[in-house]
Amino acid sequence: ATYLDHNATSPLRPAARSAVLAALEVCGNASSVHGFGRKARGLLDDARQDLAHLFGAGSGQLVFTSGATEANNQALLTAKQGPILLSAGEHDSLLQSCADAEIIPLCENGLVDLEWLAARLSRKPTPAMVSVMLVNNETGVVQPLEDVVALAKSVGALVHCDAVQAAGKLRLSFSELGVDLLSLSAHKIGGPAGCGLLIQRDGLSVTPLVRGGGQERRRRAGTENLIGIVGFAAAAREAEQGRQDAMDRLGAWRQAFEDAVLAEAPEAVIYGDGAPRVANTICLGVPRLPAETQVMAMDLAGFAVSAGSACSSGKVTPSHVLRAMGVEPDAAASAIRISLGWNSQAEDLPRFLKAWLALYDRSRAAA
Ligand code: PLP
Repeated sequence: ATYLDHNATSPLRPAARSAVLAALEVCGNASSVHGFGRKARGLLDDARQDLAHLFGAGSGQLVFTSGATEANNQALLTAKQGPILLSAGEHDSLLQSCADAEIIPLCENGLVDLEWLAARLSRKPTPAMVSVMLVNNETGVVQPLEDVVALAKSVGALVHCDAVQAAGKLRLSFSELGVDLLSLSAHKIGGPAGCGLLIQRDGLSVTPLVRGGGQERRRRAGTENLIGIVGFAAAAREAEQGRQDAMDRLGAWRQAFEDAVLAEAPEAVIYGDGAPRVANTICLGVPRLPAETQVMAMDLAGFAVSAGSACSSGKVTPSHVLRAMGVEPDAAASAIRISLGWNSQAEDLPRFLKAWLALYDRSRAAA
């Protein structure tokens, strides 16, 4: 079968696999003073340094977590006095963990409504934090983070950015982005699942979410997930090395695919195509064909794609991201996501298109 669901999780990269296998042989707690512990500590320090360097941060600014869900949960705890503003397109790990957040609307093209944000920031109470993702997991739309940061900083609000879907796709530098907090996840770039990062600016007052031992400079308790962390660093190194070439390649394949879809399936819609997007993601909708039907038919035909985000497939509710872009519920419920990655091949999309058009033609004939 052909895997076209990299935004849900990306297969383990060869370099990450080797690093993980080597780390499996290491017995030692990085907090122990003996030789075994020092060996683990050495691997951990190297991984931390590499990740810090790759993502434009200082190694003391990195806090390893169990994934981006925890990093996002943790980031929200940094907001002390005042409301939290979340964009309507954020991942559920933010939207579902902050019941009283104020929601920044999206425009039709998927970008956050900067005019709304500017107007809100000119009013009291001044928000404690603004959280806007860099790249949306369903549409691939790239948010204007520079503008968000400038607006938020003008009133002294903290800025958090969920950059999970930007890693390996865009140049990503914590210091250049100018945000206070940034979340990342290993398994979206070909590292193991269950490992993430929260990068935080120096001097923030942090309330730990996970409490206990003094690991991660007292910011996140628990014995470090050495295997995950070492795999994360190896995946990040490989992803960054090949990033530009990979994105040029994927972008060309995607363009050809989208042109062909629109030519051969006139009712098809590509969501987010009116905004800047990362090269690997296609959010494709067509009336009459429920996303679940498409996902199952494509699975039978040998292609793995998803209906909306992975977290919302399984339930029939239409994507909250598309709904926030003003897409009607029925239309939103017939959108699928095709996402490419490091092991995608030139023939994957043309073969998928053939199978998908067969389904599309059957549905047209039945209508
Ligand atoms: N944020 C975004 C944008 C995501 O796509 C995901 C993935 O599901 C997450 C956060 C959660 O990451 P994790 O699976 O590491 O908890």
